[in-house]
Amino acid sequence: MLKIYNTASRKLESFKPLSDVVKIYTCGPTVYNDAHIGNLTAYIYWDLLIRCLHANGYGVKRILNLTDVGHLVSDADEGEDKLEKGAEREGKTVWEVAETYIEKFKKDYKALELVEPDVWARATNYIEEDISAVDAMTKRGFTYETADGVYYDTSKFEHYANFAKLDLSGLQAGARVGFSDEKKNVSDFAVWKFIKPGEKHAMRWDYLGQPGYPGWHLECATIIHKELGEPIDIHTGGIDHIPIHHTNEIAESFAAYGTELSRYWLHCNFITIDGEKISKSLGNVYLLSDLVERGFSPMDYKMWVLSGHYQGTRNFTFESLLAAKNRRLNWRNKIALLYQRDLEFDHSVFDKILETVNNNLNSAEAFSLIDTSNLSLDDWKKVDELFGLRLMADSNNIDSEADALIHEREIAREKKDYHRADEIRDKLKMLGITVEDTPDGPIWQYI
Ligand code: AMP
Ligand code: ZN
Repeated sequence: MLKIYNTASRKLESFKPLSDVVKIYTCGPTVYNDAHIGNLTAYIYWDLLIRCLHANGYGVKRILNLTDVGHLVSDADEGEDKLEKGAEREGKTVWEVAETYIEKFKKDYKALELVEPDVWARATNYIEEDISAVDAMTKRGFTYETADGVYYDTSKFEHYANFAKLDLSGLQAGARVGFSDEKKNVSDFAVWKFIKPGEKHAMRWDYLGQPGYPGWHLECATIIHKELGEPIDIHTGGIDHIPIHHTNEIAESFAAYGTELSRYWLHCNFITIDGEKISKSLGNVYLLSDLVERGFSPMDYKMWVLSGHYQGTRNFTFESLLAAKNRRLNWRNKIALLYQRDLEFDHSVFDKILETVNNNLNSAEAFSLIDTSNLSLDDWKKVDELFGLRLMADSNNIDSEADALIHEREIAREKKDYHRADEIRDKLKMLGITVEDTPDGPIWQYI
């Protein structure tokens, strides 16, 4: 039985889906710049969630959105639209910027061999639905219009503060003087923004007689409504989404559709790099391609991420990445050995591994179990499906050149031509293979 920590209740809960097909929504990237390794952790953790559901026999319908409009620099209603900022920076149109970073994100996603969502939902493909949702919210008395846009009156939703345990009176008292003079409550937020004359905002749609664009949170509520239907089973995101983005998604969905948005909410924590926040000024904004350039595979990074827990703060260092790479190498060699020899194995290890992961996705503990057990090839296959670490494919892929060299070396040894045998051993080393001679013949391993 899968147990997950539900942010909505702040409790570890047994997972009970509404049907055999689990409906999941993942808040995806804002496609205005490269996703760094910190951004990518979320998709790796949620990949484990999807694979874990599959291992437990559930079907999954899953949507991942791509935010290409409305996400302002502040996460709330201030600052420039991130896409506009990206366009200025690169001297491109916002549409080109979105296109570029959607492709780049999908490339990383593929390189990490993450299970594809059923729908990649691009925010700008749901504008009609956004407008219908704002109409519905207005009809039900949840909005008011200002010169800046259509705002959500959070005082109309009595549960507004619950999800993030917000202290609204404290917020109100702490609000800066002159802070958005037209807002009725400090927690009110724009569901639709108007574009003022002279304002630069290339993505624009006509609504209420003037050009505008949706507020960031709206896309998630409308995409879920259209693609999955609420309530969904699981909604995932980063912990930074709790106080504003997800709080507002919940409010909007309730106002537009009158229902609960999601039954379970999972949030992953942030990573630091060498003990520091990821930031341009510190020069530690590593991309997946930077790790590859330093000789690591995307699978090594996935291994590093899954060596920890999604709710914990993690500190990334290249030493710890190397440890993850070596651990994976060790696992690959265990599998390679099973392809070469009939070995004794422990029974039902996979059941224990799945049980461990079922405890709030505790892959870290499951990895320790794998380290200390003798798995059968069959169990390794299941482990590979559960974690998506490309273990099987990378553990029996000795190429024909290396294979031929191993044979040639055997013949040299039979002829007692040890000089030639040593030469071949060196050649194999260059191919990343080491050979050890045993009474039952040679055994090769990856180095
Ligand atoms: P940003 O592009 O910085 O707005 O990040 C997009 C999303 O990635 C955020 O909303 C977070 O959920 C996630 N994120 C950003 N930085 C980190 C980090 N250091 N570790 C984990 N997740 C992060
Ligand atoms: Zn969202």
